[in-house]
Amino acid sequence: MARKTVSIIYTGGTFGMRPSDRGYAPASDLGALIRERTPEIGADTMPAYELSEYDPPLDSANATPRHWYELASRIRQSGDRFDGFVVIHGTDTLAYTASALSFLLGDFGKPVIVTGSQIPLCEVRSDAQLNLISAIQAIATGRLEEVCVCFGRHILRGNRTTKVNATELDAFASPNFPPLAEIGTDLRFGEGNALPAGAERLGDSAPDYRDCGIAVLRLFPGIPGALVDAMVDTGIAGMVLRCYGVGTAPTSDAGFLASVKRAIDAGVIITAVSQCQEGSVSLGRYAAGSALLDAGVVSGFDMTSEAAFTKLHALHALGLAPARIAALMQENLRGELTAT
Ligand code: ASP
Repeated sequence: MARKTVSIIYTGGTFGMRPSDRGYAPASDLGALIRERTPEIGADTMPAYELSEYDPPLDSANATPRHWYELASRIRQSGDRFDGFVVIHGTDTLAYTASALSFLLGDFGKPVIVTGSQIPLCEVRSDAQLNLISAIQAIATGRLEEVCVCFGRHILRGNRTTKVNATELDAFASPNFPPLAEIGTDLRFGEGNALPAGAERLGDSAPDYRDCGIAVLRLFPGIPGALVDAMVDTGIAGMVLRCYGVGTAPTSDAGFLASVKRAIDAGVIITAVSQCQEGSVSLGRYAAGSALLDAGVVSGFDMTSEAAFTKLHALHALGLAPARIAALMQENLRGELTAT
């Protein structure tokens, strides 16, 4: 079998950082560091690789939506030359980027594996080597053709992933979907987790970046409706509303409910997701959720906040009509939700 070729794109993050007098900071020339610290990725038994590096590399805390679109188009442009892509990324907003890529790449059909590390490659006992090697080996199996996150002991569906731990090496989880593979003495793939056949596609070409104005609002007891008004006044087009439990909100507060209605009347698509990590939104279960439904809030079911946010962004960037966006937010496009 022909040796596979993998593109490794280093966007930044702890993986390639070096100590500075202000803490770890992004550093260039990861290639030399990889050759020094992880020479085994050059072995004949591994796919060949080509490394490209962002200049300057980013702390992912500084990543903006524009970053997702540029990355998606970079991957698409060199799609023919590689069997798969490894994106090395900072962990802080890695789940956003992985989710966004899953929507922006549509039916790209090749594995795009996003990884990073909690300890820089330059340090002793770094998790960078294993994460990188596992990601490359996962591509070599030929069993993946979607956007995934490879981190610690798991390979996860990218748009189901969230960062759950700031300091443990297993920093990511996929609370509402089983791992695609477990990383142990070998890579153990789960069965039946492939993307659903016939899932609606977002089209062949990645949309261009647009400043879409999507916001996330996490409910808290006593939240004033004025906060919703203030967000709407900034000109947002969509909002992820992080509700309680199965999708409740303080709907007995007439002012709050009126603000939600005003936002929807103004054309803002409000998608409800849960503040709980596990489980799904079911807006009709409680009167305090039905009122949201009546106001025109759409259910995000069991989507992560990251998936809902980036999906809203991608759908708006495609320039779809608001009613179409609202409908698609409730459909499973890229394996990101289970409608109940
Ligand atoms: N601040 C870093 C980043 O997200 C954290 C990391 O990579 O682990 O770029």
